[in-house]
Amino acid sequence: MHELSICHSMIGIVQKHAAGRPVRAVHVQVGAMRQIVPDTLSYCWTLVTESSELAGAELRVEQVPAKIRCSGCGREHVLDAPVLACPDCAGQPVELIQGDEFLITTLELAEV
Ligand SMILES: [Zn+2]
Repeated sequence: MHELSICHSMIGIVQKHAAGRPVRAVHVQVGAMRQIVPDTLSYCWTLVTESSELAGAELRVEQVPAKIRCSGCGREHVLDAPVLACPDCAGQPVELIQGDEFLITTLELAEV
């Protein structure tokens, strides 16, 4: 379950940015190609934060669809399935231009 190790590294990043201020919520963007299950991620987040100073901080997961650019037709496509191929001209090399991200986008800090 790699969600668990992701949450462990997220705690480090969040704590560094929060610098001791109480965190109410953490917003993350997860690309579809990352094969991360949002529910599992939230569950792991609760597990690893409950014994830390981030206990109670909510994790808000936003999923980003995978998007490719085809070198054959130059068009961009949003992929329904994690298969890297252009639906218009099969066989042409494609470039993944979105869907591989894992970003912490916003920290909501509580009023002190
Ligand atoms: Zn194409």
